[in-house]
Amino acid sequence: MARRHRHPHQRYLEGQDEHHLRQLTLIRDLQDAVGNGELWMAYQPKVDTRNGRVEQCEALMRWRHPSLGFVPPDEFISLAERSGSIGMLSHWMLANVCAQLHAWQQRGYHLSVAVNLSASDVVDRQLATYLASLLERYRLAPARLSIEVTESAVMQDVDAAMSTLMALNQLGLRIAIDDYGTGYSSLAQIKRLPVDELKIDKSFVLAIDSQKDDLTIVSSTIEMGHSLGLRLVAEGVENRASAELLSKLGCDYLQGYWVAKPMPADELPAWLDNFTPL
Ligand code: C2E
Ligand code: CA
Ligand code: CA
Ligand code: CA
Repeated sequence: MARRHRHPHQRYLEGQDEHHLRQLTLIRDLQDAVGNGELWMAYQPKVDTRNGRVEQCEALMRWRHPSLGFVPPDEFISLAERSGSIGMLSHWMLANVCAQLHAWQQRGYHLSVAVNLSASDVVDRQLATYLASLLERYRLAPARLSIEVTESAVMQDVDAAMSTLMALNQLGLRIAIDDYGTGYSSLAQIKRLPVDELKIDKSFVLAIDSQKDDLTIVSSTIEMGHSLGLRLVAEGVENRASAELLSKLGCDYLQGYWVAKPMPADELPAWLDNFTPL
């Protein structure tokens, strides 16, 4: 029987290999992350520019790996999408958010929360049924939950996505197109979907107070979106000048570090108590 010998070079991991090894480790350990209680949700407030209040938050997933530490969601979500474990994460996330909404509701905080869905969630035929059962279990009005989905996720399989979004819309959930402006779809295409909101990608918002081109893009997006009956959200609002500019342009909701960074669920009530409407 031939024994396989390790090639000496294999003992030295080069940058590429190290990166690959990290990916394999993360993909493997993601399987147990839910069961081990390593995941939690952070919540980031959105301000309504009409009244300056916070009635909505976005739920963002967090993972602390036992040996690798904090893993950014951009990294582990895309690995989960490619390795097929995103459905499991999304199911956990939706149940966790609904349980949290229920707990806040008991304490008199009647927030609504936006959750992020991936391409494979949007084509999942069971998703609307699953969500309906969660809303019932936690006694939540459907309007308490909204969905954020990117245009590229929807465009991967428009027909399947359309039927899921229709079902969610019929359930009474609001739907937002996330990272708007970074994809290739037109507003005309997006308008065929049951969409209520556009979230202007932070790449257009971060420097809106200094980059004239960004200001032009954002202002025409708001105008066009409004004329199609959509509500506009700006993410990545990092300073007062940007916030004032966006309010003046008629942007409906502001989200960004200037309002608050994403925070653990148990910090949100105190944050809300201390927040003075803008
Ligand atoms: P996203 O949905 O576009 O989320 C917005 C990201 O921008 C968040 O990063 C948020 O922390 C960050 N952000 C918010 N305000 C500011 C700001 O003022 N300045 C800057 N520079 N950044 C800001 P985060 O939490 O790292 O999430 C990254 C991405 O991971 C999300 O982008 C989303 O695509 C994905 N993600 C996070 N949680 C989930 C989830 O539960 N499910 C799915 N499918 N994807 C998720
Ligand atoms: Ca989002
Ligand atoms: Ca976004
Ligand atoms: Ca994003």
